Amino acid sequence: MPVRVLGDQTRLRFKPSGNEVDDFCRWSETYLRLPGNRKLMIRDWQRDIVEMVWGADRPKLSALAIGRGNAKSTLAAAMALYRLYQGEDESVDILAVDYRQAALIGKICTKFVGRHEQLEKRATVFADRIAVRQSTLEWLPANAAALEGRTPTLVIADEGGRIDQEVYEVAVHSVSKLDTAQLFLIGTPGPNPRNVLAQFREHSLTHPEDKTQAYKEFSADRWDHSLTCDDHDGDPGCLSAANPALGDWLSRESLLATAPPKTSEAHWRRVRLIQWRVANSEPVLPLGLWESLSTGEEIPPGSKVVLAFDGSYSGNDATVVLAATVDREPHLQLVKAWARPDPRDTDYRVPIEQVEQAVRDACREWDVAEIACDTYRWQRSLSILEAEALPVRDFPQSVTRMSAATAGFLTAARNAKLSHSGHPLIGEHLTNATTTEDGRGGRLVKSHRAVRIDAAICAVMAVSRATWHATKSKPKRRTIAF
Ligand SMILES: [Zn+2]
Repeated sequence: MPVRVLGDQTRLRFKPSGNEVDDFCRWSETYLRLPGNRKLMIRDWQRDIVEMVWGADRPKLSALAIGRGNAKSTLAAAMALYRLYQGEDESVDILAVDYRQAALIGKICTKFVGRHEQLEKRATVFADRIAVRQSTLEWLPANAAALEGRTPTLVIADEGGRIDQEVYEVAVHSVSKLDTAQLFLIGTPGPNPRNVLAQFREHSLTHPEDKTQAYKEFSADRWDHSLTCDDHDGDPGCLSAANPALGDWLSRESLLATAPPKTSEAHWRRVRLIQWRVANSEPVLPLGLWESLSTGEEIPPGSKVVLAFDGSYSGNDATVVLAATVDREPHLQLVKAWARPDPRDTDYRVPIEQVEQAVRDACREWDVAEIACDTYRWQRSLSILEAEALPVRDFPQSVTRMSAATAGFLTAARNAKLSHSGHPLIGEHLTNATTTEDGRGGRLVKSHRAVRIDAAICAVMAVSRATWHATKSKPKRRTIAF
């Protein structure tokens, strides 16, 4: 149902230079207006993106990953409109995760059309498409069946990290029908690691010789820095790498307005830093549950406990010594923790002697039934402590063993069958962890490779051994105060 009369059939006054990338930039600046009648000025980095799609190689498939807030939808709309007005018999399809999302780009296009008299009088604007002469631009539902049978000249698929695989494949098939047809996929890494955009990226990185597809990303993927890092020894840092519009229309303030804890770290790293190896971090425990298990009390001297320790020499991870009372409902206390203070300080080494001494001191303070640790990492320390007749016990962190221990730990925590002294590091490391889904219950793993989860791992080991000792030994009579 047209909302306007059929448009003016004449062509826009625009003289193509033959270089399509230059023409696109000049055309956009001439005809596209932002609110307030500002010209849409194509930035150099945006020109590079267009060069990937319409430059010399003109790949059949191209993809872009860029941080949210960098106006990728506006650029996509500009590209779609350029084809609509300047091409012949164009059929531009806009897709996203669903119709509503695709319609967002459609709406941007409609607004651009409405802001320039020369565009407006040549267009017929419908609820789901815009027609100019023999060409159409259409935003579509993400429904494979609905897309079958289309013959587009250009497909712009937004939300490549979330778009349905089958929908994407039908779209790829649709651009294979015409020699010159192209597909342009844009987005941010999706929560599912096998998302369409991630697979596209993977193929491009492993097959650089394949000229039928091109990929570009603005990303901080190669760094393991803090969430808001924007300083690389005086140069712009991670935030700038993933957000080329930062300092232009994207202010640092508005970018950081949604930083964790307002959003999850995993989400932030994916959509704002374009980091790919971020697991989908469902919290391992309901929010606030761990904190509710704190009694604020330390383990009294002389109590029977299990010690657990874990970590890395390099300080990449935290090294943690933790105690748990030998009890069917253990009480945990973090004894000591070490970590390199600045993630970029690669010279830092964990003071191993201090770790060993902390274990000795703990053995003097409490009645230590067992020191649990993965000998694989701590061979030297364990040999020394064992030679001092301390009850060292190897706790190999195999998948089976850690899965069982993790399930036991999480169940105990959910049922309030354990408590702790309130040190914030364990809670923090639990928040940094996510569970694998490889078998029964899964293990705790990092939600991103830059985060630390060692205190949580130690807690899992300590609770596993403490409850084992509690069920092995005779039921202990609880101290009753009269
Ligand atoms: Zn950085």
